Amino acid sequence: VVELDKQIEMQNRSSECLELQNTELQKVNKELDQFVYSISHDLRAPLTSVMGLVELSKLEKDPEQVKHYHEMMERSLTKLDIFIKDILNFSRNARLDIEAAAIDLSELLTDVFSQHEYAHSGQLIEKTVDLELPFPVYSDKRRLKVILNNLISNSIKYSDPAKGMSYIHLSAKSTDQDILFKITDNGIGIDESRVVRIFDMFYRATEFSKGSGLGLYIVKETIETLGGSISVESTLNKGTTFYFTIPNLASTVMSSEELLEAKLV
Ligand code: ADP
Repeated sequence: VVELDKQIEMQNRSSECLELQNTELQKVNKELDQFVYSISHDLRAPLTSVMGLVELSKLEKDPEQVKHYHEMMERSLTKLDIFIKDILNFSRNARLDIEAAAIDLSELLTDVFSQHEYAHSGQLIEKTVDLELPFPVYSDKRRLKVILNNLISNSIKYSDPAKGMSYIHLSAKSTDQDILFKITDNGIGIDESRVVRIFDMFYRATEFSKGSGLGLYIVKETIETLGGSISVESTLNKGTTFYFTIPNLASTVMSSEELLEAKLV
């Protein structure tokens, strides 16, 4: 009887386990479905508009108008390119191992800011960087760049033209354990009821968004892959602040002598 009881218990446990796996699979399946749907929609939208513009250009005789169509094509193709880059970053984050190395944060930030120099035509945005790095910064450079790129590009994209002077303030601080970042802008801000969803896949919180809605999802996934966390504070029409922390991976890379030398122990 005892044997039988044991067997029944084991069977119950394995069927519970199966049920759990089944629910997990259903969730993954649903996410995949949504992913494929949104991707094909977002890939097709700019493609269809380029195809339409090609047809219009073929019929057009006025060179000025043709030039205008070309500019519109360029905009659609840039959008497509950004979207494909987002998808690549997303899959790289899921696939690649973490590569910890020493990072010159000041150089990395100059690099990221310079990529966005011409992103916002016309409007001047004041950018300030405040670094407090008593401990050397060790992390996965490629991933950190993806995170900073997305957050900074959002602060530029969602800057508020109604404000006289737009700004982005970035500060970073290192400890022996973590690297803490804060990025503040005085942009358009996010509606209180929407702010909880901004890290969701494909979520756009404003009609001003021309993006894929993938950026912050990738940011969050990437930070979590590194073992960190992110939070946000935002007020509509005032501005937004993102805080994120990632582990300082110095101790996983440096030898004990190097750690001593860098005053990390
Ligand atoms: P998108 O491709 O739409 O930019 P993201 O995932 O990067 O997608 O961001 C999701 C939404 O969060 C955006 O559509 C935007 O409404 C809002 N958002 C993100 N960053 C900011 C910011 N710095 N200021 C105001 N709104 C922001």
